Amino acid sequence: MRHFGAASALIGALSFVLLTGCSAATGMGVDTPQQVPEHREQQQAASVPPDPAETPAKPPEPQAPSEQQEQPDQAAENTEAEDLVVYKGPVEHIFFHPLIAYPELAFDGDAMAKGYDDWFVTVKEFERIIQALYEHDYVLIDIHALYEEKMENGKKVIVPKELLLPRNKKPLILSIDDLNYYDYMLENGNVYRLILDDNGNVATYSKNPKGEEVISHDNEIIPLLDAFVGQHPDFSFHGAKGVIALTGYQGVLGYRTNELDSPGYESVKKQALQVIARLKETGWTFASHGYGHLDAVRVSYDRLANDTQQWKKEVEPLVGPTSVYIYPYGSRVETGSAKYNYLVKAGFPVLCSVGPAPYLKHTPDSVMMDRRHIDGISLKTQQDRLKPLFNAEEVIDSVRPR
Ligand SMILES: [Zn+2]
Repeated sequence: MRHFGAASALIGALSFVLLTGCSAATGMGVDTPQQVPEHREQQQAASVPPDPAETPAKPPEPQAPSEQQEQPDQAAENTEAEDLVVYKGPVEHIFFHPLIAYPELAFDGDAMAKGYDDWFVTVKEFERIIQALYEHDYVLIDIHALYEEKMENGKKVIVPKELLLPRNKKPLILSIDDLNYYDYMLENGNVYRLILDDNGNVATYSKNPKGEEVISHDNEIIPLLDAFVGQHPDFSFHGAKGVIALTGYQGVLGYRTNELDSPGYESVKKQALQVIARLKETGWTFASHGYGHLDAVRVSYDRLANDTQQWKKEVEPLVGPTSVYIYPYGSRVETGSAKYNYLVKAGFPVLCSVGPAPYLKHTPDSVMMDRRHIDGISLKTQQDRLKPLFNAEEVIDSVRPR
C-alpha cells in the first residue's frame, strides 16, 4: 500500500487512498500537506505585512495598459513607467488541484466523495478566492523571478534575485498539481481535458452528468484565471499566471500521451502540443510532478531516478525543459542527500513541497519553497492561517457535504 510522509497521515488522506485502491505503480494524484518541517531556520512569519492604510490607485499593468490611464511618455519605457519597489516580505505560494466542475459527481456519496471534499475546491470557491486575493493586493509572479543562475569560480550557483514589484503589491505564486485529468477525475466531476477554442484560447472539454458534451471557459482554473487577468491586468506582474505541475503516467492535460503505441498517438500528441504552446504564450509555466506520482521520501533512490528519467523522456519533450520539481504528496527529501543531489543534478534546482505558511530558502545549488494547499481541508481547518489571503468562511461552497 501507499505510505504518506510521517507527519501527514491524515485520516482523510489515508482513507481516500485506501478507498480508491490505487496501485503503487500509478499513484493517486493528490498531494498531502505536511506539518512544518523541522530545522527550518529561515521559517518566515505566517502572516504577510498588513495592508497599508492608504493604498494608492493600482498602477496599470505594463503589458496591457488601459488606454485612458496611460500617459504618453510612459508607453515607451515600461520599467520607468512602473513604480517598482524592492519587496522583502514573505512570498506566498498556493496550489490547487483541478477544479470540481460538477459538484453532483464529486459529492455523490461514492468512495471518492470524501477525497474530493478534502483535496479539491469548486469553481465557486476558486472564483471567490482569486477575487479576495486581488482585493488583498496580491499579484501573480513567475516563480523564476525568485532566483538567478550565476557562475562563481567556474561553478554554476543559484542566487536569490531581488524582487521588484509594483508598490503596495504582494507576490503570489500559484500552482496547479495533477492537471493530467486522470481516469478517476473524469468520473468524479473534473473536466476531461484542456482544448483550444475557435479563437485559439484555452477552454475545457467535458461531459456533464447528463452525458452532454460541454465546452466551457468557466469551470477550470486556467480559463478562469486568464479571464480574470484580462479584466484585472494588475493581478499579474508582467503577464505571469501559474505553474502547471504534471505527472506523465496517464498523459498530460487530458491527452493520453503515455499511450505511445496507440494508433491515435500522433494526433493526441499534436493536440496536446497546441494547448501547451498556447499556455506558454499566455503566462503559464510547467513543472515536473514526477512521472508516476511517487513519494520521493518513501521510494528508493533508483526508483526515484528512474521515475525522473521517465518524466524527462516522455513529458519534457511535450512541455519543454523546466527547472521546477513539485514533490508529489508534499514530500521533501533531505537537503544534501543522494536523492536531493540527484534531483538538482537532473535539472530541478527549484524544489517545492507543501507547508502551512510561506517558506522560501536558497542554498548555493537550489531554491526550496513550500506551498499552501488550498482545498477542503485547509478551507475548513486552517481558516486563521489563511486570513492574510482570504476569509475561508466566506469562500466555502455550500454545495460541499456537511
Ligand atoms: Zn499530486
